[in-house]
Amino acid sequence: MPVFKRNIKESTQKSTFLSRYTDTNRFTKILRVLLLVALLLTITFGTAKILTPECTEQRKLSEIPLNTRRTPSLNDIIHESQKYLGTLPDKESTLPLGIKEFKTSAAVSKNTSHPPVISPAAGETFLVVIDPGHQQKADMNPEPIAPWSTLKKPRVSGGAAGVRTGIKESILMLQISKILKEELERKGMRAVLTREREEVNISNKERAMVANSLKADLFLRLHANSSSNPGVTGALALYQQPHPSLIEASKKSKTAAQIILDIYCQRTGMKNLGINEGKDMTGLNWSKVPAVILELGFLSNPEDEVFMVSESGKNAIVKAISEGIIAYKNSLD
Ligand SMILES: [Zn+2]
Repeated sequence: MPVFKRNIKESTQKSTFLSRYTDTNRFTKILRVLLLVALLLTITFGTAKILTPECTEQRKLSEIPLNTRRTPSLNDIIHESQKYLGTLPDKESTLPLGIKEFKTSAAVSKNTSHPPVISPAAGETFLVVIDPGHQQKADMNPEPIAPWSTLKKPRVSGGAAGVRTGIKESILMLQISKILKEELERKGMRAVLTREREEVNISNKERAMVANSLKADLFLRLHANSSSNPGVTGALALYQQPHPSLIEASKKSKTAAQIILDIYCQRTGMKNLGINEGKDMTGLNWSKVPAVILELGFLSNPEDEVFMVSESGKNAIVKAISEGIIAYKNSLD
């Protein structure tokens, strides 16, 4: 293109651009005024609303998410579980907010979501206290590993995480425990969870106290394993050591561990790594009732993890464990 033609073209382009720019500029000014008015209105009325005391009170009660409300204590959990099982009168009117929430969730799962086949009176039907291992945050404060020991271990350790999905052991165990509770109730047993949320702080000893106070027929603690070697795979079970104060319970624990692990591995195809005494397991040592830790598989092994996190895997796991519990229960009769 010759130089002048190009100059003409460029100048035309410039003038068109200028007129457009002026239009846009006017429009922007109007928009700014409108925004300013809107901002003033928001400040005037919005602030007044936020500062109203009822409003802040309402925020306290309804807008704060459940998981930031008061964490239920051990006594709350025991008390609520006893009420759920029908062994305590209802004292709801005296309960603070956090505990009421706990009760509501127990009542819902009992009465509406998944009604048990049998609605048993306390003490008549096999009771399993399920402990979903770990919790959202570890608590490294020490507690004695046994009533007879001066050795101490952290109240709750952090737990493993999935090598593929990164899922936390505590979350996965809670998910599986909730399905297991429903499955056991469907099969006519009673089941109580030591925790129904991630945001709790209940030590391993305190979890055993829940099982003790409810006189559980079985205290089943669910965990997933981890190893620095990703090739390590399989499930194992730990049972209470036969300390003189735990002879009877320990015998039953060993039987339960063997039966439940064998059936679990047969049904899920998980490699069977066998049973062992859980000598330094605080939650087993403090339990006065038969207690077992079932390590469902390795979160450090991709295949085990994929199986455990999949919906079909979780269902297979729950079916297998419930079959195992029934077989153990039948072995007692
Ligand atoms: Zn664990």
